[in-house]
This record gives sequence, structure tokens and C-alpha cells, in this order.
Amino acid sequence: MSEKFEDHQIRDKIQIDYKYTMGGQSKFFIELMKNKKLHGTKCTKCGKIWMPPRKNCSECYTPAEWVEISHTGTIEVSTIVWYGAAEFIKNVPYGCGFIKLDGVDTALFQGIFSENLVPSKIKKGRRVRAVFKKPDEREGKMTDFFFVPEDEYEIWANKPEFEGGE
Ligand SMILES: [Zn+2]
Repeated sequence: MSEKFEDHQIRDKIQIDYKYTMGGQSKFFIELMKNKKLHGTKCTKCGKIWMPPRKNCSECYTPAEWVEISHTGTIEVSTIVWYGAAEFIKNVPYGCGFIKLDGVDTALFQGIFSENLVPSKIKKGRRVRAVFKKPDEREGKMTDFFFVPEDEYEIWANKPEFEGGE
């Protein structure tokens, strides 16, 4: 006669302390954190400007060099987020989308915040500008900055927890 198996379980936690590297993209995050600058890369052969930056041009496979990018751009496509992971849940609802910064050939995916978040406020073609967290809050992560509609820039840049770029 077989005895019914009884599984004994104990609740425990695993804490993992680790680092990860941004590798060849490090300059982008360092300049963002320290100087509120957005850096992309420019292909040394075909001249295509990449944002997010790429070490090598994905069109012609030639090394690209760092270039400073404008803080203003145009929304290519966007949506409103109603559900997010732990880090973003406090911001829900918020916008996000692909933004083509002025002078750049590719689009960057980033958060778009608005005082009046309705689809028309963040639709394709809308002009946006970057707003940054305060220096002691910036960690060298994509969440160090976000975009706002250009007509709301002064409102966001003057909030106590944020600041504008140059
Ligand atoms: Zn190229």
C-alpha cells in the first residue's frame, strides 16, 4: 500500500546584487546622467544618424561616431499605456512612442507625459521636447528623461522634481 506523498515547502527569498554594463552605448547614458545631453551616432561613411546610438552603422556596417542630438523632435507613432511593470505603475496612464529627434534618421522609443493625456495630445506629427529628472535623481537610465508636448515644456521643466535641458 503506497503512502500519499506530502511535500514540505518553506518560503525563502533570493537576493541578487549585480551589475550590468551598457557596453558600447555607455557614453549615451553617462552624458544623459551627468550633462542632460542626448548623444546619437553618425555613420562615418554614409552619414546616417542613429538614435538610439549604434556603434556601427546598420546600413553600411561602418563604424559610427558620437554626435550630440537635439532635445526636440516629432512623434512618429504613439500609444497610451494603462498597465505597466512596477517601475512604471505610478505613472499610469502615460504615453509612449517613437520620436524622431530633429536631424536624426531613426526614431527613439521613449515615454511621453502630458498634463492632459488624450490621444490627440501625443498623436503622430506632434512636436515634443525632453525633460529630465533632477541631477541627484538621474541614474544613467532611460527613465532619467521623457518627452512632453512642446506647449507643456515650461510646466514640466518647472516642476520641483524635473528640469529642462539647455
Ligand atoms: Zn552608414
